[in-house]
Amino acid sequence: MGSLSHHEPNHATVKNMHIFMVSFPGQGHITPLLRLGKRLANFGMFISIATPELAGVSIKKANAITDDEPTPCGRGMIRFEFFDDGWDFNHPNRDDIDSYIAQLERVGREILPQMIQRQAEKGRPVSCLINNPFIPWVSDVAESLGIPSAMLWVQSCTCFSAYYHYFNRLVPFPSEEEPEIDVQLPHVPLLKHDEIPSFLHPSTPYPFLRRAILGQFKNLSKPCCILMDTFQELEHETIEYMSKIGRPIKTIGPLCNELKSNNDTTPPDSNAIRADFYAPDSCLEWLDSKPPHSVVYISFGSIVYLKQEQVDEIAHGLLSSEVSFLWVVRPPAKELKAETHVLPGGFLEKVGDRGKIVEWSPQEKVLEHPSTACFVTHCGWNSTMEALASGVPVVAFPQWGDQVTNAKFMVDVFKVGIRLCRGEAEVRIVPREEVEKCFRAATSGPEAAEMKQNAVKWKKAAAAAVVEGGSSYKNMCDFVDEVARLVATKS
Ligand code: UDP
Repeated sequence: MGSLSHHEPNHATVKNMHIFMVSFPGQGHITPLLRLGKRLANFGMFISIATPELAGVSIKKANAITDDEPTPCGRGMIRFEFFDDGWDFNHPNRDDIDSYIAQLERVGREILPQMIQRQAEKGRPVSCLINNPFIPWVSDVAESLGIPSAMLWVQSCTCFSAYYHYFNRLVPFPSEEEPEIDVQLPHVPLLKHDEIPSFLHPSTPYPFLRRAILGQFKNLSKPCCILMDTFQELEHETIEYMSKIGRPIKTIGPLCNELKSNNDTTPPDSNAIRADFYAPDSCLEWLDSKPPHSVVYISFGSIVYLKQEQVDEIAHGLLSSEVSFLWVVRPPAKELKAETHVLPGGFLEKVGDRGKIVEWSPQEKVLEHPSTACFVTHCGWNSTMEALASGVPVVAFPQWGDQVTNAKFMVDVFKVGIRLCRGEAEVRIVPREEVEKCFRAATSGPEAAEMKQNAVKWKKAAAAAVVEGGSSYKNMCDFVDEVARLVATKS
């Protein structure tokens, strides 16, 4: 890796560049886009991040962020622009994702050019548009305005390959007639029917999410490249293969790791700008009070909502396993119209100082904390990359979508995890005895030691990818150069 040729982008060139990012209003979408925005700002660029007010309301409440106010970040600036997508929350269809995505497209196609025009009038003409999945029309707008665009894929390259092969009908996938066939993607270990991104399975209760993701694959030829929050060393063969048959792929992950140049002069506070939908509860002092590698951290991301019976079993498993734990028990999203989870009677008293419950954690800091032993995760891609980047072994508890594929990779390919379930399609409540056994095995004994060893190996590989000369560092610089070249060709 050290032999890769590299350089930092020319500061004079990038200083005048304005990257305008558009995000679907989901936590798992905005977080990686903002991380990319910070990196670009660190090079000296001006970054706009536009997302519907739907997300803006929560982001402004949970963070010190004001609409349209540029904030210094590294050598550059970041500003947010929250726009009205016209979605009617009193409408009976308000939770229908298909309708929402269509509405966002209708409004977005109209107002995005206006937002871009306003920036030009302010003396900040937009150099490049970057979008994340579910809003592929952003690259049409870019094309119509003669601005280059790129897409940030926020899942693994393996999942990108699965969607690509499904969309283009290149390999057989489970169907109504043959729902249990395995899927063989090029250069990917054989995936069982319940290990492919679950939205591609004919039995998925979420076909609208399949449609939302596949929308991007209709428009794949428009972005100049696909940026991915993964790194060469992690999915080498798939990345090489997909770069050849699809669009140019630039792996730039883990995005949760900052780029490190040899003569780093970046102010260390670039992590201060955050777009979390919830303010984190304090738990770091509590972690400080625990011995090294002793705490099980449990979080199922921003969307997954477990059945109350499953929460009960996890709670009882925790009681009998006697491990220390930090557990994120998040109130359900309003649109789920679900009940807030209740912990078994007397749970908190029995647990005492051995456990801590929070509604939202500062997850990256928790994973980096020396007291954290393992991460019980739903295997969302952001959580997966954060676990790999911090060298923390996992207990995989996937539910749906790419989580089931990520779980397979964490356990069988990267060998940093043990499996507690196979996904929602299993229709099974994992009993307390399994929970207890799994938590114990992940925190002590030979299996835990081996997973930790592998996790540390991936942490080192992830860190090496983002230092000057590393694969992700080089791709990031290449991307900036490419945008500069495209902008220069235009003018
Ligand atoms: N997260 C957090 N605190 C929590 C739970 C989650 O900061 O208590 C963050 C986590 O670090 C990750 C994101 O929320 O960056 C969740 O993204 P992921 O792709 O893992 O799952 P999703 O929420 O999209 O299902």
